[in-house]
Amino acid sequence: MITREQQKAAQRSAAEMIRQAGMTITDAEADSIEVVDFGLSHLEKEGVQVLTLVQTDRISVKVLAMLPNQTEPEHWHPPVGDDPGKEETIRVIAGTVYFYVAGEDTFKEGFIVAGKDDCYTMRREIIMKPGDQLTLAPGEKHWFQAREDGAVMYSFSTIARDALDQFTDPEIVRITKVVDK
Ligand code: ZN
Repeated sequence: MITREQQKAAQRSAAEMIRQAGMTITDAEADSIEVVDFGLSHLEKEGVQVLTLVQTDRISVKVLAMLPNQTEPEHWHPPVGDDPGKEETIRVIAGTVYFYVAGEDTFKEGFIVAGKDDCYTMRREIIMKPGDQLTLAPGEKHWFQAREDGAVMYSFSTIARDALDQFTDPEIVRITKVVDK
C-alpha cells in the first residue's frame, strides 16, 4: 500500500528522470506513470515506476524508472494459454542497472534487500550501462536493481499481462493499493 502523496512524488521523480534521460513525454503521460510497490509497502526499497507507451494484444513498450537503490523483485512471466509467456528486452537509457538471471553465482556489486535472501535466488550478475540491452526468454527468472543515481530503461516485449506475473516472494501482490489519507 502507498499513499496518494507517495504515488504523486514517485511519479514526479520518475518523470523527471525520464525527461533527463532525453525522452520527451507529455504531462498526461507523466501523470499516467504506474507506481508499483508490489504490495510490500516500502516503495523506496522494492518497487518500480512504469510508463506504458504501447500496449496492444500483441506487443508492449514500457519505460521503467527506478529510484536510487530501488530493487524490482525476482519474477518471471509464465505461459498464458497458447502463449509461452512474455519475451522481454530491457535496454538501459540512463543510470546503471544490476541485473540478475540464472547461471553461475557472480553476485558481487549489488545487495539483497535485508532479510530477503530466499526471495532473490538468481545470482548471476550483469552490470548494465546506458546502451546495454538483454533479452529474457519467456519464463526466465530475473530481478534488477538501480544504483545511487537511479535508472531509466526501456522494456520491449510481447504482450504484457502484469497481473499474472509470478514472484519468488510469496508476500507480493502485483497490483498496488493506493490510499487517500
Ligand atoms: Zn520481467
